[in-house]
Amino acid sequence: MGTMTSPVHANQRARRYTPHPLYDSSPTFRMARMQLVKVAEETEIDPGILERLSLPKRAVVVSLPVRMDDGSTQAFMGYRVQHSLTSGPSKGGLRYHPAVDLGEVAALAMWMSWKCGLMNLPFGGGKGGVACDPASLSKGELERLTRRLTEELLNVISPRMDVMAPDVGTDEQTMAWIMDTYSMKIGYACPEIVTGKPVAIGGCVGRREATGRGVVFTIMEAFEELDIDPSGATAVVQGFGNVGSVVCAELVKQGVKTLGVGDRYGAIANSKGIDISALQRHVAGGKLLRDFGGADRIPSNELLTIPCTVVVPAALERVVTEENAARLNCRILAEGANGPTTPEADEILQEEKDIFIIPDILCNAGGVTVSYFEWVQDLQQFLWTEEMVNHKLEELMHGAYHRVRTLAKDRHISNRSAALTLGIQKIAREKEWRGLFP
Ligand code: NAD
Repeated sequence: MGTMTSPVHANQRARRYTPHPLYDSSPTFRMARMQLVKVAEETEIDPGILERLSLPKRAVVVSLPVRMDDGSTQAFMGYRVQHSLTSGPSKGGLRYHPAVDLGEVAALAMWMSWKCGLMNLPFGGGKGGVACDPASLSKGELERLTRRLTEELLNVISPRMDVMAPDVGTDEQTMAWIMDTYSMKIGYACPEIVTGKPVAIGGCVGRREATGRGVVFTIMEAFEELDIDPSGATAVVQGFGNVGSVVCAELVKQGVKTLGVGDRYGAIANSKGIDISALQRHVAGGKLLRDFGGADRIPSNELLTIPCTVVVPAALERVVTEENAARLNCRILAEGANGPTTPEADEILQEEKDIFIIPDILCNAGGVTVSYFEWVQDLQQFLWTEEMVNHKLEELMHGAYHRVRTLAKDRHISNRSAALTLGIQKIAREKEWRGLFP
């Protein structure tokens, strides 16, 4: 049984480009769909399976009324999208950001499916979000918002159906509130309902650092392949949150200097290298990254074009675009963020710039991989050591990197196409075996 079909159903092929009114108003969703269609054409996935993969399995939209600290009531829009439940529970982050909408969440859920497929994890893709600015909400408001969201999603989440994790604007505290709300509803402690929660309540050692650590594993693999000496290498990192700050710290351990860093409030650069420990202390002290004394402030839109060995976008999607792609001045683009490169920019990077891309679903897969370890430990009530976690993470990241590179070289396709092909084909194969119900 393969994923190839010889007679092409013309009607079905024509239908694949039909935009869906619920999702396709989002440029991020259109981008995810374009990637899927491109891979489907290159690999001739069965048109019926492509049809099933093109839209999320389930999407829930809720309004979340929250009592604000000043006594007023504010309603926020919340979303949870489960793209695929074929391989196991859907798995994916929860994002709190003002730009969150249904299409963006659906695109991120779709990418999670391909990522779990590529990593051979027994999960489908999911994602959730609330359109809000967490920086402007108090801790109490965030807690009430999170508990209300959990309550509204009770019918569609469970350790066997959908397991959330942190993403932009959420953290281990958010996961702890979800775990507590869910546990109160079912009557017993249920740590396996979320991953990325504090270690004290069933979290996994090393989960907080896992995404950034995985990003740096893949960068080191690329350095080895491209014969780059880390001690002479330099980096630029966009985003200094969970992923970006760990990437910077792990790069220091490898001897790589970070020349520029940015976040939503601004960007800084130092041609001699930024003292990352000092920057971490500065930010942990509640100060803005842009006010750090050990570097110069630069315009945010100049960050990604600083000449360096590796650029790591680790903030939001669609930041490497047609507008700035030709000005990137690096050898490697390591996609810590999900969907940072638009398809138009992708072409420019590959055809005009010869930049080696480590695609998002491979580069940042360390997070979901250690989330998988956390879920397994919670289900078995058997906890691993940090050494076991990191060793297993390295093994899985190493395997995935080389599967992607082998396919890319064999078929003369881009790393992105190779990674997407591996992820998509795994789910397509599972769908073929399971068949179409009823
Ligand atoms: P986070 O909220 O911890 O940090 C986000 C960072 O991006 C912050 O420093 C923020 O200031 C910055 N930022 C926001 N808007 C920006 C803008 N317009 N310009 C520049 N910087 C901006 O989030 P995170 O968990 O580090 O996630 C970052 C990216 O990594 C996202 O794309 C996320 O989907 C992806 N990701 C995260 C994980 C994880 O485990 N947390 C796993 C895989 C992928």
